[in-house]
Amino acid sequence: MQNIENSKVRVRFAPSPTGPLHIGGVRTALYNYLFAKKMKGTFILRVEDTDQNRYIAGAEDYIKESLEWLGLTPDEGPGYGGDFGPYRQSERKELYAQYAEKLVANGNAYYAFDTPEELTKMRTDQEALGHHSPKYDRRTRSLMRNSLTLSEEETHKLKDDGANVIIRLKMPENQEISFVDKVREKVTFNTDQLDDKVILKADGMPTYHLANIVDDHLMEITHVIRGEEWLSSTAHHVLMYQSLGWTAPTFTHLPLILKPVGKGKLSKRDGAKFGFPVFPMKWDAGDEIYAGFKEDGYDAKALLNFLVLLGWNPGNDEEIMTLDRMTELFSLEKIVKSGARFDFEKANWFNQQYIIATDDTQLLKNVKPFISTDILSNYSEDYLLIVMKLMKERLQKFTDFNDAAGLFFKAPTSYDEKQVKKRFSEELIPQFNAMKGLASSSDFSSEKLSTNIKGYLNDNGLKMGIYLPLLRIMMCGSLTGPDLFDIISLLGKEESMKRWDDAISAFKNMI
Ligand code: GLU
Repeated sequence: MQNIENSKVRVRFAPSPTGPLHIGGVRTALYNYLFAKKMKGTFILRVEDTDQNRYIAGAEDYIKESLEWLGLTPDEGPGYGGDFGPYRQSERKELYAQYAEKLVANGNAYYAFDTPEELTKMRTDQEALGHHSPKYDRRTRSLMRNSLTLSEEETHKLKDDGANVIIRLKMPENQEISFVDKVREKVTFNTDQLDDKVILKADGMPTYHLANIVDDHLMEITHVIRGEEWLSSTAHHVLMYQSLGWTAPTFTHLPLILKPVGKGKLSKRDGAKFGFPVFPMKWDAGDEIYAGFKEDGYDAKALLNFLVLLGWNPGNDEEIMTLDRMTELFSLEKIVKSGARFDFEKANWFNQQYIIATDDTQLLKNVKPFISTDILSNYSEDYLLIVMKLMKERLQKFTDFNDAAGLFFKAPTSYDEKQVKKRFSEELIPQFNAMKGLASSSDFSSEKLSTNIKGYLNDNGLKMGIYLPLLRIMMCGSLTGPDLFDIISLLGKEESMKRWDDAISAFKNMI
């Protein structure tokens, strides 16, 4: 038997291509990736596509594109190479039945021949007897048609006659199954609570449980890191490992990601409900389109930083972490047990911090796919770069750019009337004319404009609090925006002076 602790770490992210990758799945991938990198091990992508009924075309590509966008590229997997392939379970289907047969031979599994009608009848009979949500288990299996109730000859005959046969795991009676979970320490299940799960279907395809443990064994997976919803399945898995004489990997079950309001598991519907993506990339489900962090203007690095802290913390107050830093600090022991609230305000905060920290040229590159083609074709790279420099502190998402920086590309079409009425009167016009003259005769740098205009107001005992806000409204339409003189300077003489004249005429009509 291999010694797991001393062998090289191999972890797998094992999504089923039944739809887009939920953000909880992304976190699972991230933790697997971090652990692999930390331990100088291998991060594997395994596609668990044995359930053909739930298979969704495009889901596997979506998963891979998402992982690549996030920089979590697998070391092994379908399309990534590796010595343990194929990495798609549908391409390994011949492999699994022998292990199910072995479990039958060991007495830990059995053949079952029940028809759907017989199964339904069992459930209704049991319910009539007062048993809630009856299962195929140690109590009911003796009432059914399987190799435990039928004679050996009958079983052989049914199989030879081509009857529909499946293989079920036989849960022993009243036995404790324990395993160590890195987050929960010792976890124990009593087999009386567990059903006889199907492990091989009538078409010869394995179910998740069988395929999962066979592949974890054959792919030499040392650590299983997955969502909490698989915790009770682990008891079934441990039984199979024992019966097959295999060493089970180390298990780590990750806490749930909770709704933004704190109660209940985050669902795909919560995205639309709270106006926030819960998928890494956009997913077009035909009848519905789900928003993605990528298309909504998030930096992949910020998203990872936000996600890593949903269920894990470095044990200090470090918050902003590169992928390398996360790798350095990551440990399975620091994963928490309680659910983590999906606080999307925090995701925005992280994104803003990343935007601020990104250098202007790189940021422009990141934001470019979100800038309207109109702007891109009419303004130079240099101009856009200065706009970016002035605006970056005001962007939370890349998608904010067009609106937030709109004043640099388009003259105001309306002015904040309330503010204009509060401050403007005809008597100010001569002073504005004088300021305009000073502005247009200077070299139009931000500093020069500021010195000239503020100097004029000071020298004439005029109130900054009246003139400067009005000047800002003349340029931007409202009181928002970066430094006023930076704006005038960047707009340039021609554009800013035009805005100046247009605004004064409009103001006159407002009062
Ligand atoms: N295919 C399972 C899923 O979709 C994998 C669970 C596991 O990691 O074992 O989540």
